[in-house]
Amino acid sequence: MRIGFFELEGWEEKFIREAFAGHDLYLSKEKIDEKTLPEQKNFEVISVFIRSHITTKVLKALPRLKLVTTRSTGYDHLDIEACRSRGVAAAFVPGYGDNTVAEFAFGLILALSRKICEARARVKNEGKFTTDGLVGFDLAGRTLGVIGTGRIGKHAVRIGKGFGMNVVAYDVYHDDAFAKEMGFPYVELEELLAQSDIATIHCPYLPTTHHLINKSNIGFMKRGAYLINTARGAILETGALISALKSGQLRGAGIDVLEDEDKMKIGNMSPASELLAMPNVIITPHNAFNSEEALKRILDITIDNIKSFVAGKPVNLAQEL
Ligand code: NAD
Repeated sequence: MRIGFFELEGWEEKFIREAFAGHDLYLSKEKIDEKTLPEQKNFEVISVFIRSHITTKVLKALPRLKLVTTRSTGYDHLDIEACRSRGVAAAFVPGYGDNTVAEFAFGLILALSRKICEARARVKNEGKFTTDGLVGFDLAGRTLGVIGTGRIGKHAVRIGKGFGMNVVAYDVYHDDAFAKEMGFPYVELEELLAQSDIATIHCPYLPTTHHLINKSNIGFMKRGAYLINTARGAILETGALISALKSGQLRGAGIDVLEDEDKMKIGNMSPASELLAMPNVIITPHNAFNSEEALKRILDITIDNIKSFVAGKPVNLAQEL
C-alpha cells in the first residue's frame, strides 16, 4: 500500500519503517495543502499534522486516497464533509495526552500567576537577584473556569482541584457523575466568565465554538481575570482579547493557539504582534501537545489507525462513512 506521512520531524521515521515494512512509504517534513501538493499523488493513505489542510481540491489531486489520518486530536484542518462525499475515511487521535495539554495549560497559568518569565529575565538578562515588582498570587482559593470538560478539560479540573482551587465548568454536555465526583458545578458560559479568576478553554473548534469568547461576552469576565487558550485559536476572538487586555478587564493571557497561526509558523509574526508586545501575555507556538510521552502515543495510535483501516476494521474515525 502507498502510504504518505507528512509534517514529520525525523525521529518518527524508524518507528514508521518498522511498523509498515513491505509497504510503499513516502516520508516528508512538508505539509500538504492546496499550494503544496506533493509531486507523487498515488497515495492510498496519508498521515498529516495540523498545518496540512485537506480540502476538496487536495482530495481531487489524490484520486486513489482512501484514508487521511491526522496525528492530532483536533481535526478542523480536515474538510470532513468533503472526505465523506469522496468516500475517504478521516481518522484522528482522540486521546494521546489528555494530561499533557492540561499540564501545559497549568504551566501557562503558573508562569502568569507567579511571573516566572519576568523573574527569569530579571536574573538572566538583567543580572539582578531582586524581587521588586514580582509579586504574584496563589492559585489555592481562586476560581478556575473550565470551558469544555472532555478528556483534557477533566484533567484541568483535577489539576485545579489539586491546587486547592474552586472549579466551575461550562460544557454543552454535562458529565454529572464527574461533576459530583470532583465537586464542581456546571454553569452557563456568562456565569463562568463572571466567576472565574482564571478561565481555560478546552472545547474543540467547531462552527458552534467559532469566537465562543468574543467582544460581546468577554466583558462578563471578572475584572483582572486571566484567560488561557490551549484549544484552538479561533475559539477566542483575537480583537476582543486585545481590547480586554488593553482596558484592564483581563490582567493577562496564556495563549498556545492563535487565529492565523499558520502564518506565524512560516515566520510572519504580524497576526500576534500586538499581543506579543504585551508583557502580561505569554504566547507559545502550539506546543501544549509536545511531550515525549504524548508524541510516542500519537504515533502509536496513528500506526494503529492505519493498520486497523487496512485490516478492514477502521478505528478513531471522525465521521461515519
Ligand atoms: P474532547 O472531545 O474529549 O472534549 C471536548 C469537550 O468540549 C466535550 O466535553 C464537548 O462536549 C465540549 N464542547 C463541545 N462543544 C462545546 C461548546 N460549544 N461549548 C462548550 N463545550 C463544548 O476533546 P479533548 O481531547 O479534551 O480536546 C479538546 C481540544 O483541545 C481539541 O479539540 C483540540 O482542538 C485541542 N487540543 C490542543 C492541543 C495543543 O497542542 N494545543 C493538543 C490537543 C488538543
